Amino acid sequence: MNRELYYQSTRDASVRVTASQAISQGISEEGGLFVPCRLPAYTKEEIAQMQQMGYAERAAFVLKDFLTDFTNDEIRACVEAAYAPEKFENGVPAPVVTRKDGTHMLELWHGPTCAFKDMALQLLPHLLTVSLRKQHPDTTAVILVATSGDTGKAALEGFKNVDHTRILVFYPQDGVSPMQKRQMVTQDGQNVEVCAIHGNFDDAQTGVKKIFTDPEIRHELMLHDQMFSSANSINWGRLLPQIVYYFSAYADLLAAGKIENGDPINVVVPTGNFGNILAAYYAGRMGLPLNKLICASNANNVLTDFITTGTYDRNRDFHTTASPSMDILVSSNLERLLFHLSGASDLSVRTWMKALSETGSYTVDPATLRDVQARFAAGFCDDAATAEVIGRIFREEGYLCDTHTAVAVRVYEDYRAKTGDTTPTVIASTANPYKFADHVLAAIGGEPVEDEFENVRRLHERSGLAVPPQLADLADRTVRFTRSIDAAQMKDTVLSLLA
Ligand SMILES: *Cc1c(COP(=O)(O)O)cnc(C)c1O
Repeated sequence: MNRELYYQSTRDASVRVTASQAISQGISEEGGLFVPCRLPAYTKEEIAQMQQMGYAERAAFVLKDFLTDFTNDEIRACVEAAYAPEKFENGVPAPVVTRKDGTHMLELWHGPTCAFKDMALQLLPHLLTVSLRKQHPDTTAVILVATSGDTGKAALEGFKNVDHTRILVFYPQDGVSPMQKRQMVTQDGQNVEVCAIHGNFDDAQTGVKKIFTDPEIRHELMLHDQMFSSANSINWGRLLPQIVYYFSAYADLLAAGKIENGDPINVVVPTGNFGNILAAYYAGRMGLPLNKLICASNANNVLTDFITTGTYDRNRDFHTTASPSMDILVSSNLERLLFHLSGASDLSVRTWMKALSETGSYTVDPATLRDVQARFAAGFCDDAATAEVIGRIFREEGYLCDTHTAVAVRVYEDYRAKTGDTTPTVIASTANPYKFADHVLAAIGGEPVEDEFENVRRLHERSGLAVPPQLADLADRTVRFTRSIDAAQMKDTVLSLLA
């Protein structure tokens, strides 16, 4: 029997729920996020043992310590379905590729929708189904998603035709790449719905959060044996799968003889909602030898400023960039980090989050800032620097990366030049370059046109990188979803779609 682990809320530390409650509910009733009350820790020997495991086995190894109200058989069934070899290119979900300059790229985009969101969203529907069976039998989960592009498609693909679930995705009409949009509006499945809104990602996310807590809609759902749940990274079931691949990368580097067991590594993460990098932080607290966590942003550099100064200030212009999945001014998961670093102070978190919603800004105390800076470094770059990196590493090394990953590469180069830190470094590579073919093509000297499939063709011609069939096939799919609404109409839309 594994030792029980419970979850508490960042805004009310006295709330105590099991894993299956945290995952089926998504968010705590008072608006806080669920975090584990304690973290499992692994020894050097246990980490070394992961070298002999396949990816699904590594996932089960970590999950068993967090999902203590799941049986080992349930966990095994979930991970084997999620990480089945046929779902991932070459059967490997998270390969590590070492570039000519020695940095290690953790490629997280070989799954069904070509972005790292698959790593969590292939697993979440299984975790949620088991959780619902335990907590709310005969209830249908209505998954509401606000997306900056990649989450929407990955969630649709993960949840399509899953019994006892319905999924509804809102995306900013002009805030996603042509390929991301095409992926979503052609989605198949009987339980899916996709809707564009006039506004940016933050408008979509705010709208979804309001609907979540709207008493009228909640009542309406209850009458029909339905309940809301979330596939955004506010759901613990989204974060947990992401912890696994940092251990997996370390085990792969050990197996390849690129590091010795116990050697510290840096991790660089292109960051938006702070979910992916937070998973790395948890891995570090669980015994993975991590030196610096480097948080990379695009022109929406609210996190760079926070990590540098201790002041989080969303009162600034929103930039639409070449890395749209990071065009975010409110990074929800930072709340979890602040809870841990402030010594589980729900009072501090409530105070900061209230200030954020009322004034758009807050400043943490000096002790918390010191703790943030002890673990994290941060930087940002604009679209021109992003394009420069893509072009340069393609020319010099023949390695092609997408716009989000390029932001991380650039921020790491700046970090290394400034600090002289030569610790072995893993960069999270978060999307297949073909998802952002227009920008990537331009960056390597090609000429993008309106038609996204022509851009894919041209990018292939220049780069030789195989085009993933799941993107190429979209050209022949019919468009199913054309609805486009104001953010103010989101509530009515949800009501009418659920009726
Ligand atoms: C979602 C996403 C990010 C940002 O990840 P967070 O967990 O939100 O910080 C970065 N790159 C790509 C390609 C993404 O889809």
